[in-house]
Amino acid sequence: MKKILLLGASGSIGTQCIDVIKAHPDSLKLVGASVGHNVDYLRDILKQFKLEYAYTIHPCNDLVRQYPDTRFYYGDEGLLKIAKEEGYDTLVNALVGFAGFRPTVEAIKCHKNIALANKETLVGGGDIIMPLVKEYGVKLYPIDSEHSAIWQCLNGHERKDVRRLVITGSGGSFRDKSRNELANVSVEDALKHPNWAMGAKITIDSATMMNKGFEVMEAHYLFDIPYDNIDVILHSQSIIHSMVEYNDGSIIAQMGCPDMRLPIKYALLYPEHLKDENTNYLDVDSLFELNFKKMDYQRYPLVRLAKEIGKFGGNFGAILIGANDEAVDLFLKGRIAFIDIEKYIFKALKSAHFIAKPTIDEIISSHNWARAYVADMWANS
Ligand code: MG
Repeated sequence: MKKILLLGASGSIGTQCIDVIKAHPDSLKLVGASVGHNVDYLRDILKQFKLEYAYTIHPCNDLVRQYPDTRFYYGDEGLLKIAKEEGYDTLVNALVGFAGFRPTVEAIKCHKNIALANKETLVGGGDIIMPLVKEYGVKLYPIDSEHSAIWQCLNGHERKDVRRLVITGSGGSFRDKSRNELANVSVEDALKHPNWAMGAKITIDSATMMNKGFEVMEAHYLFDIPYDNIDVILHSQSIIHSMVEYNDGSIIAQMGCPDMRLPIKYALLYPEHLKDENTNYLDVDSLFELNFKKMDYQRYPLVRLAKEIGKFGGNFGAILIGANDEAVDLFLKGRIAFIDIEKYIFKALKSAHFIAKPTIDEIISSHNWARAYVADMWANS
């Protein structure tokens, strides 16, 4: 029985993780959960699972009274305290944004395995996280369709035989538009992803393909493959989730329905591939076409930028994350145009102070600096 602490329970990955845990009561047990402001969702979870601990941003006295056997945590420090709790084996980190970084660090230091959906952890702090994973001898399992695919394609093979990783990307909500046509697109249109139902932030990151850039950086850290051996191709159907090309010319790809419960399940039940009531099978009998297109780095400059930033390393990943977080926020609030998201990111990186070997505190302050820098740029524009 694997005991799970789920951070970010009420988000898109969090709720699907709950589906997976419910479908496998003999293998998985939820012992702790965090939500942000969605107290009703936590109340729902508490009715279904006997939680040992729980987290909300603000104190919630009626839950504390109603569930005296559950320890409740609040505030910034509370998220770190719950990550340091005993009695769980795997932290599922489904937090959105840079808030996911420090709980991962604390959980690793407590010898917990990590199932990671939070992108910011590795993109901003990969140089700190990966050595910690080694030092503490814990497992780091990806919860992302692309990295889950690569992980599956690498199983049973030697790293020295890998020629390159090929990460597929759908191109997001505006994939049929030229750069010129992006000038007046709306928030509402940006939130309509053609293949995946996800949270707002990641749907915007998919439309700019910043998300794909982040995934390249995560793949570099997770699988220890140089940036020059990680490519991106456009694949509009999101059926092939990524591939690994070997030195002998063989390519192994992983296919499946675009359903995040598949990578969640693989991360939690590895190495088993189990069926459950939510399982969707791909209809390969009525075969469908699979399209591929060369990645267009002019159309999506943030993918190339992420690769370059990754090669720089240091605190630049944290700057990239911070600038993007703030710019996407400004776009979602209707304050800047879609096309300005990348402009703000480029400007922040140009002004940023590079630190080659940042500490955890410097990673956090770099991220905060980039957010504030973008916010100021907007306020003064
Ligand atoms: Mg993905």
